[in-house]
Amino acid sequence: MPVFMALLLQYESFHTFFSAPESMGRRFSNFIRGKIPKVDAVRDALALLAADEVENIFDSVVEKTYKNAVLRPGTIGGYITTAIDGVELFSSTKKSCGGCLTRKNKAGQTEYFHRCVVCATIGSSPHVILGQEMLTPRDGGEKDEGELTGGKRLVKNLYKKFGHFADLIVADALYLNAPFLNTILECHMDAVIRLKDERRLIYKDAEKLFEKGEGKKKDFKRGKRRIETWDISGFEMEGVNIPLRVVRFCEHIRRKDGTEEINWMWLVTTSERVPYEILWEMMHKRWDIEENAFHQLKTYYHAKHCYCHAGVEVIFLLMLIAFNIRELYLYRRIHGFKESRVTRKSVTRIFRDDLLLENYCGLLYEESG
Ligand SMILES: [Zn+2]
Repeated sequence: MPVFMALLLQYESFHTFFSAPESMGRRFSNFIRGKIPKVDAVRDALALLAADEVENIFDSVVEKTYKNAVLRPGTIGGYITTAIDGVELFSSTKKSCGGCLTRKNKAGQTEYFHRCVVCATIGSSPHVILGQEMLTPRDGGEKDEGELTGGKRLVKNLYKKFGHFADLIVADALYLNAPFLNTILECHMDAVIRLKDERRLIYKDAEKLFEKGEGKKKDFKRGKRRIETWDISGFEMEGVNIPLRVVRFCEHIRRKDGTEEINWMWLVTTSERVPYEILWEMMHKRWDIEENAFHQLKTYYHAKHCYCHAGVEVIFLLMLIAFNIRELYLYRRIHGFKESRVTRKSVTRIFRDDLLLENYCGLLYEESG
């Protein structure tokens, strides 16, 4: 509980939290019953804790989100849309553990780091993180596990736990890979993947038709952008059993000086039914996982800080629980948070101040509290 509170209140180090009784003593007495634990004892305890146990608590929060139908209205165009992407936690050239991945840095030194794949909802708030998989290090001569392998494991595990956890999964060009698409299809969901590589057969096949003017749709507008669309189904990709749909967007953005900026965006999807305007939005909202979830985790929750190397997964999971609980509190419990213009930093300040004044033990330690 103390570690969870440290993360929820976004303290940047365990030392500020556990070794400053002058400023923290009062707060502690408002959320734990015994004495303030020593930092070393906290680290020892974290090293002994099994990640599965914390994962079960994390899962129960996600489960509750589904039970309470938080996501039922969909997050983009009526569809529950999620993104999958990798994120790096801390790295070091000095300290390592059995779970560390390795690489050579520019100076030729071996660098140890932890990286995981995360799945989170994108589109409307609250953004809920649904799960994560830590990538595992090389075994003998093998390479470290890649994002694709972790991504497949994540999709399978989430499906096993929550069933149909999303309508669509959006991912970067790296994930345009037959086994990854098949994993999503086997779990009865659809994929929307960015297409970037001009050398890929599916790109060349589609380009030929698009250049002939085939699949041209009606333009649409979003803000200052006018978007041209080409949209054709029935493409083959080796190893994938169903035909795929390729959509190409050309965005014309009017600049203040009257000139025009042009952006191309391509995607491949397994879905036949999602309208192209919605697909366009999904590709843009893909950045939510980066700009919202990962940005918050790194900037406010200090995910790149090594709180305790031996407890890396346990701490990350506690951080994700804190992230979800706070998102759900701000967007479901508080009314009008979005319009209130209260910053996330002030929310933390308010939480910290409240903890000086009020005793939360009853709330925190009672079932359904
Ligand atoms: Zn490590």
